[in-house]
Amino acid sequence: MNLTKDFFITLSQNKLLTKGAKRWGLQLGAQTVVAGTNIPEMIRSVQELNSQGISATIDNLGEFVFEKSEALEAKEQILHVIEAIHENGVDAHISLKPTQLGLDIDAHFCLGNLREIVHAAHHYDIFINFDMEDYGHLQPSFDLIDELSKEYDNIGTVIQAYFYQSDEIIEKYKDFRLRIVKGAYKEPENLAYQGKNDIDKNYLKLIEYHLLNGKFTSIATHDHHVINHVKKFVRENNISNDKFEFQMLYGFRKDLQLKLASEGYNFCTYVPFGHDWYGYFMRRLAERPQNLQLVSKQLFNKKTNTLIGLGAGAFILGRLSKQRKKSEE
Ligand SMILES: Cc1cc2nc3c(=O)[nH]c(=O)nc-3n(C[C@H](O)[C@H](O)[C@H](O)COP(=O)(O)OP(=O)(O)OC[C@H]3O[C@@H](n4cnc5c(N)ncnc54)[C@H](O)[C@@H]3O)c2cc1C
Repeated sequence: MNLTKDFFITLSQNKLLTKGAKRWGLQLGAQTVVAGTNIPEMIRSVQELNSQGISATIDNLGEFVFEKSEALEAKEQILHVIEAIHENGVDAHISLKPTQLGLDIDAHFCLGNLREIVHAAHHYDIFINFDMEDYGHLQPSFDLIDELSKEYDNIGTVIQAYFYQSDEIIEKYKDFRLRIVKGAYKEPENLAYQGKNDIDKNYLKLIEYHLLNGKFTSIATHDHHVINHVKKFVRENNISNDKFEFQMLYGFRKDLQLKLASEGYNFCTYVPFGHDWYGYFMRRLAERPQNLQLVSKQLFNKKTNTLIGLGAGAFILGRLSKQRKKSEE
């Protein structure tokens, strides 16, 4: 089986497999990159990170939400996480995805949910990061941010370097705390750079721009070339450590996470937790199929093979039907 980026991206968007994975739990191998399924487990992971000088951004996993009840459940859960951060006094903030709070159902309903979350977090001085999803959700997410930033200053978001329009976006949002990433979704050629060199070049350009002109910068990457470049850039431009941080995902390059923290850089780990881990996990495999090596042998148990096998079937059928449509045109 050829485990390509397209293959894992297709799996990440498969609603049926998402449901199946929720039922089967983390036994499929994702526990290496997901910090538990409930709040106490997640808090223990965050406490361990904090004891190593690392802060956390907590993601209550969830996407493909098309039922109001599910969005409300997610909102309640995130409110509990905010309470847990406060009660346990951990060094952490929240990352969330607008689609989990109902963006695909009704933007006004989603705004109401987000307002409750941002308001509760504001009360405890907790920062909320709006993760960025695929292009279809880009402008709707910025509309929500524009609306909420009229009332609250504890929000920030993500700039995805693969989009051609990212330099306009970063300029518009330079007064926000921004996480800058390469971009995790599959986007078409008319919207986004496709080649690694182009994406990397734009990524460095955006990071440098925000470090020089913007508010706080979170450089979210596992790429040591980028990290080394940033270290040199901040030294040469006298940018102090309190203007930026490095971020990586939970379970990835732990040695490098600890090294950067011990060198005195601010370091924040993205800590996903919950039952809805499947789309998140498949996107990590799409970025780097070698990430399969990260997870234990359990990944290749009978259930996982069924899951990947079913996904492969759906992927191949999808490809065949696209090819057939093209030849009929
Ligand atoms: C904290 C965080 C939050 C994110 N939030 C978002 C978001 O909101 N929206 C979004 O679209 N995307 C998000 N992403 C994903 C991001 O867009 C990229 O898809 C992802 O980070 C992969 O790109 P990379 O920069 O890490 O390195 P890559 O381009 O994948 O890798 C570059 C090089 O780095 C090295 N490398 C990478 N990974 C490893 C590893 N595990 N072990 C050893 N070497 C490695 C290799 O030499 C590799 O060739 C987020 C990423 C992080 C870390």
